[in-house]
Amino acid sequence: MISQTESRIRKVVIWLASSVGMVTVFAIPAGYFYVSYLYETEHLQSLAELSSDIVSEFVYLHPDTWQLQGDRLEQLLEKSHSRQEIIRYRIIDSKGAIVMSSGLVLETPLLARHAPVSDSGRTVGHVEVAMSLWPEISDTLLIGVISLLLGTVVYFILRIFPMRTLTRVMSRLEQSQKALQREVEAKEEALSKAREAGEAMRHLALHDNLTGLPNRALFQDRLDRAIIYAERAGSRYAVVMMDMDRFKEINDTLGHHIGDQLLQEVALRLKKELRKSDTISRLGGDEFAIILTVADVEDAIAMTQKLRNVLREPINLKNCYIRVDVSCGIAMVAEHGSDAQSLLQHADVAMYTAKRNGTGIAIYDVSEDPNSPRRLQRINDLRVALDQDGLSLCYQPQIDLKTNEIIGVEALARWELTVDEWVSPGEFITLAEETGLIDQLTLWVLDKALQECAVWQQQGIRITVGVNLSARNLHDHELPAHVRGMLDRHGVAPSSLVLEITESAIMEDPGHAMSILNELHGMGIILSVDDFGTGYSSLAYLKELPLHEVKIDRSFVSHMRNIRNDEIIVRSTIDLAHNLGLKVVAEGIEDAETAAMLRKMNCDFAQGYHICHPKTAKEFLGWLRRRDATPEHFSED
Ligand code: C2E
Ligand code: MG
Ligand code: MG
Repeated sequence: MISQTESRIRKVVIWLASSVGMVTVFAIPAGYFYVSYLYETEHLQSLAELSSDIVSEFVYLHPDTWQLQGDRLEQLLEKSHSRQEIIRYRIIDSKGAIVMSSGLVLETPLLARHAPVSDSGRTVGHVEVAMSLWPEISDTLLIGVISLLLGTVVYFILRIFPMRTLTRVMSRLEQSQKALQREVEAKEEALSKAREAGEAMRHLALHDNLTGLPNRALFQDRLDRAIIYAERAGSRYAVVMMDMDRFKEINDTLGHHIGDQLLQEVALRLKKELRKSDTISRLGGDEFAIILTVADVEDAIAMTQKLRNVLREPINLKNCYIRVDVSCGIAMVAEHGSDAQSLLQHADVAMYTAKRNGTGIAIYDVSEDPNSPRRLQRINDLRVALDQDGLSLCYQPQIDLKTNEIIGVEALARWELTVDEWVSPGEFITLAEETGLIDQLTLWVLDKALQECAVWQQQGIRITVGVNLSARNLHDHELPAHVRGMLDRHGVAPSSLVLEITESAIMEDPGHAMSILNELHGMGIILSVDDFGTGYSSLAYLKELPLHEVKIDRSFVSHMRNIRNDEIIVRSTIDLAHNLGLKVVAEGIEDAETAAMLRKMNCDFAQGYHICHPKTAKEFLGWLRRRDATPEHFSED
């Protein structure tokens, strides 16, 4: 824009300078010539008239001397004009003959003026006064040259100064335009930075820092919208609450850094698997919430299972392969809640049910709701059962794989609520753990199991009895004293008692676990790691604890016949445990082939339905006797 204006102004300046220059070059000499021409014409005219008056006078006074007195007349005229001009005078009679001429030879072109000579009122001739125009022309040419110089000077002055000023003004204008532009750019940059910062703040306010997924606020907003769509358009949505199993252990064993990486990988996998219409959010910790667009409940279950499968693919974090198990609770929009809060709460309840029952996925069921009257009733029933000896124990034998001899039993708690209505250990043990009743329950089981063990010992049955401990029991510093009291009371040797602690329970608080386990170990009690392989601890780590044996979880053992990886895990665990001086119990043996495989692998002990289902004390004794009678049928159960 500025350069356009500048070039226009430049053109105008050049045009003006050229015009003024040209005018200067031509107008001055032309003007000069014109003015001097007028002057000379007038001058000659007046000379002619003056001369004609003199000549008329002379002719009047000397009428016969018109021709004769020519010379005198000439002198008279010259005197009367007394001029040094180069002017030619001529007197021409009426016939056109030159009567007198000053004799001057003039170069043409000439400028001449005439005036009549009269005698007694009669024109007898006329006087001609003439001069050459050459002096005027040469003067004009000179002035023309000067004008040319002047014009050139004027042209340059008019051109150079305005141009310089223009250039200066333009450069200032350009500078200020650049400064303005810079200012505008700086402002734009600041604005875009402010916009970016605003966007980042908005993103930060609505997203989780670690995974970049929407946070609770954004999730709730999306859920509110889904609820509205569901109402208006009849679309169906499922809210899935997802929680990683044993995430705390990963964090504690492998470090928070790995824990964070794991969460990021989980988020990435879930995001990849979900459709655009679905929403996933990290609500905090290892808890994810998802809104799925579904056809029905079955569809919701199938999609959730798909997500679980994707997460179960091993994740490699710093050469450490981690398999992520998640428990998921599903609440259907409209069916299980009509507002975001209750839907989230109900999906959460379902998730805890899935975790407790180990099913992986659970649909919201009002009866499982901790706030539901049914659950409160069940807690009360459990309390009563514990107070009134309403629980019972089953015993599941373990054999030595080399000798086939019964070496011990595991005591498993049973609760018959009403006739033939049994509450699963998964449910009531969790309920006891959640309500703190587990301390009382464990002491009851210990007491009952040791009492039974004493009876067997009196009958010459020298076997160990295993009792399961929960994570919470490892926080009870009085537990060793209680155990010692019970062993004394029933007269059972500490080496006959096996305490089973899950990997997860130990890893929940390894420091606490260590001190209690040391005390129990000091008393001579056998310590066993239950469900080994389902947690994230390593045998090398567990070796720091005073343990005697590991029980390989049944999820590996029961599939090892068909799944090669499971077979490898079982084999390696056995070898590693032996190298660390630990005995190995395989849980969940359901067929002879698995038993044979384990025997070949040098596994020490075995437990499972193939050997014997859990039995009441009475049933167990009957089974034992039958077995002793026909030892070749050790799986007659
Ligand atoms: P656990 O300690 O791993 O007990 C073994 C579970 O595996 C028992 O389930 C048993 O019945 C089952 N089982 C044994 N052999 C087989 C088999 O061949 N195939 C299959 N599929 N399962 C087999 P149960 O009695 O339902 O107990 C479940 C869990 O409840 C126990 O797992 C234990 O963690 C807990 N539990 C049971 N009784 C007590 C108790 O008195 N105190 C505590 N703290 N937990 C207990
Ligand atoms: Mg056990
Ligand atoms: Mg187990």
